[in-house]
Amino acid sequence: MSEPLQHTAIELLRARLDVLKRAVEDTEAILDQYLLTQAALKESEERFRLLVAGVKDYAIFMLDIDGTILSWNLGAQRIKGYRPDEIIGKNFAIFYLPEEQHSQKPANELVVAARDGQYQEEGWRVRKDGSLFWANVLITAVFDEAGDLRGFAKVTRDMTERKRADDERERLHQSELELERSREAQRQRDLMLQLREHFLTTAAHELRTPITSLVGYAELLERRLQHSELGDNERIQRPVHAIIEQANRLNRMTTTFLDHARLGTGSLVLQRVPTDLVRFVVEIVEQFRTLAEWHNVQLVLPAEPVLIEGDDLRLEQVLYNLLQNAMKYSPPQSIIRIEVWRDECANIRIADQGIGIPEQELPLLFDQFYRATNASGGSGTGWGIGLHIVKELVTAHGGTVDVTSVVGAGTTFTLRFPLLPSS
Ligand code: ADP
Repeated sequence: MSEPLQHTAIELLRARLDVLKRAVEDTEAILDQYLLTQAALKESEERFRLLVAGVKDYAIFMLDIDGTILSWNLGAQRIKGYRPDEIIGKNFAIFYLPEEQHSQKPANELVVAARDGQYQEEGWRVRKDGSLFWANVLITAVFDEAGDLRGFAKVTRDMTERKRADDERERLHQSELELERSREAQRQRDLMLQLREHFLTTAAHELRTPITSLVGYAELLERRLQHSELGDNERIQRPVHAIIEQANRLNRMTTTFLDHARLGTGSLVLQRVPTDLVRFVVEIVEQFRTLAEWHNVQLVLPAEPVLIEGDDLRLEQVLYNLLQNAMKYSPPQSIIRIEVWRDECANIRIADQGIGIPEQELPLLFDQFYRATNASGGSGTGWGIGLHIVKELVTAHGGTVDVTSVVGAGTTFTLRFPLLPSS
């Protein structure tokens, strides 16, 4: 090769060598850049991993496509109670209630997350120790670059405190509503009771006027008969006396209705004065002379007075109701025994030999409008308010009523009142 030609070839080679050198330098630079990027990426991944691992308020973990747990952070351990070695490799269904596991709820949530990209809900979840917590749950589907599902990221927050506060607020709200409803019902009841009291009071007053004049005229007639103005005629005297007793009975019934209405509205006021129960019993039994002639009324009374502070009209109501019941619910000629005695209290006992009251019904006996199941057969009618009033009036006197009874053998009512302090 000639010298100039040789020179040209060398120049060409050198130029190519330069190109090659530059290419190598470029490649080295790119490689350096790549290594740097890789290191930065690794560092960032590590930082992210550490960040996730260190988060305490959120349970953050990965699931494979079947729901098997692949990772576990500090928050997950704190909220759910499992250490990573206890839970990684298990299915996330373990956090759900048994009935939800049974109905495939966990698997269905993954299906929805895979379809929509995400699934979010709030609900009860189970901790390792079996206790429940209210969880806010977000499941996010993770896809690779080819668009294939690789698994799921799950973020869970413990919202129990907020849920408790919400529930408490709701409970308070409901109880306020309930209170308002019962206040309204009470207002309605009070209104009805007032109307009833008004009606019964008016009706009772209207009834009282004719009854009083009926009694007045009948008593006048009785007195004239006794003074022989119309001759000593037993055939006339007896029916006249019966008219007086029945009219008095009507009077007591109107008082019963009035008291019933007043007890309902709390407007009954007792007029209490020192009262001797012994004298009282004698007087009431005397008034019952005609009514009681079909029964054998026996009195067992102490020689000394037994004093209490009583409202005469109301005590009369009480004794009258009990005596009337004793007569109504026991056969003619049977014994009705009335005892009065004094111990640390003033006591009255009224015992009959009547139909009795079934034991299981005794606790209901003083409820208003209650009539025992054996009351209707042949024993006459009734309202079922007499004993209710007896109980209320005795209680208003600071006393008690007890009843014992044997079906077919008889019933005993015992009243106990506080003695008059000075007696
Ligand atoms: P009533 O008007 O029905 O007699 P009460 O309130 O006076 O109402 O009595 C309630 C119920 O108690 C009666 O219906 C009756 O079943 C029962 N009862 C009350 N006293 C007696 C008694 N001495 N013997 C049997 N049952 C009685």
